[in-house]
Amino acid sequence: MLSAPAFAAALPESVPASVFPVPALPAPPLPPPPHAASRATPIDTKHTLRMLVARELTKEFMSGSHQLTVLRDVSFAIPQGAFVAIVGTSGSGKTTLLGLLAGLDTPSHGTVILDGVDLRRLTEDQRAKLRGEKVGFIFQSFQLIPTLTALENVQVPLELRGESGASARAVELLTRVGLRDRVDHFPSQLSGGEQQRVAIARAFSNRPRILFADEPTGNLDASTGGRIVELIEELNRESGTSVVLVTHDLGLAARASRMIRLADGLVVEDREAGMGNRESTSREGVSIPDSRFPIPDDKEVA
Ligand code: ADP
Ligand code: MG
Repeated sequence: MLSAPAFAAALPESVPASVFPVPALPAPPLPPPPHAASRATPIDTKHTLRMLVARELTKEFMSGSHQLTVLRDVSFAIPQGAFVAIVGTSGSGKTTLLGLLAGLDTPSHGTVILDGVDLRRLTEDQRAKLRGEKVGFIFQSFQLIPTLTALENVQVPLELRGESGASARAVELLTRVGLRDRVDHFPSQLSGGEQQRVAIARAFSNRPRILFADEPTGNLDASTGGRIVELIEELNRESGTSVVLVTHDLGLAARASRMIRLADGLVVEDREAGMGNRESTSREGVSIPDSRFPIPDDKEVA
């Protein structure tokens, strides 16, 4: 079994190690799933309804001597349990936006409120902890560890969180994504679609409140990609996990309940998707908050 630092070191270079944060102490018991929690305690509707809020997010990079503005004043609110697609052409800022939403990167201006917590007020370590507790990720390139089997790829992060019964839970998750008879295969012995299923099982292992997926079907053929999105959709429905899916495939985006379109770093469209030809509520070049879930002001946020 890999030690925590060895696991972090074994991650492919393009995955920030902090995506899989390693707890210094044995992790506390996992919180009950959202539906159980909501039975036990009164629901704080003000915060639980807004799983994720982007408020006037701007991201600038220095490129040589000039400044590049990649996101401009992006604002929207996503309710708990929503399945949202972010679409836009290559270079429109989708990956940058996802990084900010997931707390992997910090905005130049504006803020993200994730499950009621203003990320601007957290240190990098606190953001990593929050990700470990609440966030799942899926990447276009699967990002499995090549020297670990499918089972180990799911099991090791669970063990690093100090979960007991990690092996049984990993088998359960892999069974859920249809890979019960592939648990001992290494990534190289799995098809692209199967590798992405392992990545989905891993992403759901911490029972995330929200799942971010960056072009998860980008390396798959259309029908395999369609099945992967179906699976994400099913897990979204069953677990109540909110999903933010980045794709440039409008067919896949239409499966989401909401579609946010970026162009040149601006939200140019924000509408319910998959519901026929409903009229868009957007105007070119203007970011439109969802009026049903208004963006909270500072004093409402933890
Ligand atoms: P998308 O995912 O929609 O294809 P990205 O968010 O990856 O778009 O990139 C948007 C723009 O930001 C691109 O022009 C890209 O070159 C630029 N960009 C992204 N990351 C950086 C960075 N670290 N430094 C400079 N420019 C960047
Ligand atoms: Mg991208």
